[in-house]
Amino acid sequence: MTQRTAIVTGSARGIGAAVAKRLAADGFQVAVLDLDESACAATVDAIKSAGGQALAVGADVSDEAAVAAAVEKVATELGAPTVLVNNAGILRDNLLFKMSVDDWDMVMNVHLRGAFLMTRAVQKYMVDAAYGRIVNLSSTSALGNRGQVNYSAAKAGMQGFTKTLAIELGKFGVTANAIAPGFIVTDMTAATAARVGADFEDFKKLMAAQIPVARPGQPEDIAHAASFFASEAAGFVSGQVLYVAGGPKD
Ligand code: NAP
Repeated sequence: MTQRTAIVTGSARGIGAAVAKRLAADGFQVAVLDLDESACAATVDAIKSAGGQALAVGADVSDEAAVAAAVEKVATELGAPTVLVNNAGILRDNLLFKMSVDDWDMVMNVHLRGAFLMTRAVQKYMVDAAYGRIVNLSSTSALGNRGQVNYSAAKAGMQGFTKTLAIELGKFGVTANAIAPGFIVTDMTAATAARVGADFEDFKKLMAAQIPVARPGQPEDIAHAASFFASEAAGFVSGQVLYVAGGPKD
C-alpha cells in the first residue's frame, strides 16, 4: 500500500484515540490532533510503541487560523493528508428552554464549523493526489434525542455535509462517509451519566438493556468502521451513513 497520512481530530482520547491507533496499525502515518498538543502524547506514544508513525498537533478545529497552521504542519512534517476523520466533539446538553446561545454556538462551532474548516483545508491535498477518504462522526442523536437540540442538529448536519462532500469530491477520487455511533463507553458518556446523577456502571447496564447486541459499544467498534471507510478498497462506497449502534436505527 502507498504510505498515506491520516488526520484524526479529537484523538487525544475516546473514539478518536481508538481510530488513530487503528489507522496507524493499518499502515497510515497519523496526525493526532486535539485542542491541547500535550494531551495527544498518550495516543502518539501508543502508536509509536506499536511500531507506527504519529505526530501530535494542537489545534482548535473551530479556529480558522489554527486549522490552516495545523494542516500545513501535518503536510510538512508527516506528509500530504489524504485521509481525514472529523471526530472532535463536545456536548452542551440542556432542554431547549434552558439552553443558552453559548451552548448552541459551541456545539455548532466544534462539530459543523470544525468539520467544514478541517475538510476545506485538507481537500486540496486530496484533489492534488486524486485520492482521499473523509470520515465524519455523526451520532444516533441525529434522529432526535431529548436534551440535545444543539447536538442532534449538529449531528444531523454532519450527515448532509457528508452527502454533499461525496457529490462534490467524487470525481477527484475522494469519498466521504459518516459513522453514527450509538452508546459508546468514553469520557463523553461518563460525563452524561454524571450530569443525570447516575453511577456510570449502572448507566452502562441501563443502556445495554436497550441495545439488541446487549452490550455498550467500545471505541474500537467505531475504529473498525472508520478503518473500512478509510481503506483504499472502499472507493465505491460514498455518501453513506453507517449506524454503529448494536442494532438497527433509521
Ligand atoms: P470525548 O471522549 O469527549 O473526546 C472528544 C475529544 O475531542 C477530546 O479529546 C476533546 O478534547 C476533543 N475536542 C473537543 N473540542 C475540540 C476542538 N474544538 N478542537 C479539537 N479537539 C476538540 O468524546 P468521544 O465520546 O470520544 O466522541 C468522539 C466523537 O464521537 C464526537 O464527535 C462525538 O460527538 C461522537 N459520538 C460519540 C458517542 C459516544 O457514545 N461516546 C456517540 C455518538 C457520537 P478535550 O479533552 O480537550 O475537550
